[in-house]
Amino acid sequence: ASSTKSDFIREIIAADLASGKHETTVTRFPPEPNGYLHIGHAKAICLNFGIARENAASGARCHLRFDDTNPSKEEVEYVQSIKEDVAWLGFDWGENLFFASDYFEFFHDCAVALIEKGLAYVDQQSAEEIKNTRGTLTEPGKASPFRDRGVTENLELFARMRAGEFKEGEAVLRAKIDMAAPNVVMRDPVIYRVMHAHHHNTGDAWCIYPMYDFAHPLEDAKEHITHSLCTLEFEIHRPFYDWVIEHCPVPAKPRQIEFARLNLNYTVMSKRKLLTLVKEGHVSGWDDPRMPTLSGLRRRGVPAAAIRNFCERIGITKFNGVTDVALLEFEIRDYLNKEAPRRMAVLDPVKLVLTNYDEGRSEEVAVPNNPEKPEEGSRQVKLTRELWIEREDFMEDPPKKFFRLFPGGYVRLRGGYIIHCTGFQKDEHGNITEIECEYLPDTIGKDAPEGVKCKAAIHWVSAEAGVHARVRLYDRLFTVENPDAAEGGFVSVLNPDSLQTVHAWVEPALLETAPEEIVQFERLGYFVADRHEHVRGAKPVFNRTVALRDSWSR
Ligand code: ATP
Ligand code: MG
Ligand code: MG
Repeated sequence: ASSTKSDFIREIIAADLASGKHETTVTRFPPEPNGYLHIGHAKAICLNFGIARENAASGARCHLRFDDTNPSKEEVEYVQSIKEDVAWLGFDWGENLFFASDYFEFFHDCAVALIEKGLAYVDQQSAEEIKNTRGTLTEPGKASPFRDRGVTENLELFARMRAGEFKEGEAVLRAKIDMAAPNVVMRDPVIYRVMHAHHHNTGDAWCIYPMYDFAHPLEDAKEHITHSLCTLEFEIHRPFYDWVIEHCPVPAKPRQIEFARLNLNYTVMSKRKLLTLVKEGHVSGWDDPRMPTLSGLRRRGVPAAAIRNFCERIGITKFNGVTDVALLEFEIRDYLNKEAPRRMAVLDPVKLVLTNYDEGRSEEVAVPNNPEKPEEGSRQVKLTRELWIEREDFMEDPPKKFFRLFPGGYVRLRGGYIIHCTGFQKDEHGNITEIECEYLPDTIGKDAPEGVKCKAAIHWVSAEAGVHARVRLYDRLFTVENPDAAEGGFVSVLNPDSLQTVHAWVEPALLETAPEEIVQFERLGYFVADRHEHVRGAKPVFNRTVALRDSWSR
């Protein structure tokens, strides 16, 4: 944690501790349970929980708060997934789990307090009328004919709203601020509306619900949040946040600070759009490995640490921009290069026969588990007369500088012998069906003999000992950098080839991989044993996390 770069928010927090303005720091991560968390949320999680962790010595903490004040969109399934994803990302809210819906009585009391101060009124204009009298950037708004109602009448009408005497849209409660304020947000914003909806937590206890802009500062105050960190869109809402804190009977005075949200190219991030992908069946679910959700990234094999490193690298600023998804892929490779054990798998197999290796003969050769971690040693891999190699590692008629297999050429079998290509077979369509080679005895772990030009090593799997595996290769879900801006909508630019399933031959050790274990298939990329479908010892199913190099530009 001490390696964390500082930023303008951390500087403010450090200054507030130094000056004694706060004795400790309390942040919160406040998702609305209306979808699964995505990589954008990871930025906010790493920021809020990260700050709490860095300031643990002063008793700092970060609350996980479900912002569940809107009964129409929220589902209990999402609460569960959000908890799971925050924990997976490596953060712990401890005792500090809250539901904003537990504060409905408090919000209501604050609204009543505003009415009593003459700072709120019941407006019976239609939603349309309210919208149309808001004014514009250059023109002030028009006061509602109900704006100057007396306190008693407002209290009575608000009580009747609560009692269910109004239908939806017939009455709202508005803050009484300034219809001519230059900031449109301050032109008497609506703070309560009628909604005859069942709420997952409070059932049918309420038929009026607070607006987000009113509830959020009160939630923060109720929990004694010191620094309420949100994305830049809320900057123009800050004066109202401060107004609510100033005029309501609150136990603490939180401060809102805005930072730039994360946007990634080739990605859509809004929960509404992600829900569309799920509902319309463009992906297999919220955790489809092509989704930018945390559960999708997890199933794709992206380590939580790589996401944390990525969030740290992009940092916290005040400037909106688009981050290249290649940067996330860089962090994934950087992490996995050090951590992932190497294994051999052949995804597009062609048979290779060692014609001078006796039938029935076999031997074990030692292949290093991870050149980045010599302490992990090596494993024994069975070598036999018949092998599978990658179809693209052989060329009948190679260009110059092709260092793999071709008639007359030499190549090394990873961990094994140097072999010499003596011939090949083709079928009637011209496809290579078999490659014939001779192995050079006494070349395991030794340099090539005099006169033998061997410049590459290829991976292989014994045809006798190899295990059959289903391997899913993923590509970007969208074909354009900015799917949100596509003329036909983001669904029109889905990549039809974002998923390819191949039947591979893999070395037997991969059968023993546990679900969620990540390995490098040598020379191909990083692959994870699927969290749900891979069955250890019985049914190997792997997902490609990321290729070794950027496959998109290849
Ligand atoms: P979406 O717009 O994707 O529906 P949201 O902002 O409505 O997301 P919330 O559940 O309200 O989703 O978000 C919880 C927290 O996560 C908020 O504090 C919000 O600022 C933060 N957050 C959401 N998206 C991003 C993002 N792309 N980058 C950084 N923070 C984000
Ligand atoms: Mg939201
Ligand atoms: Mg949103």
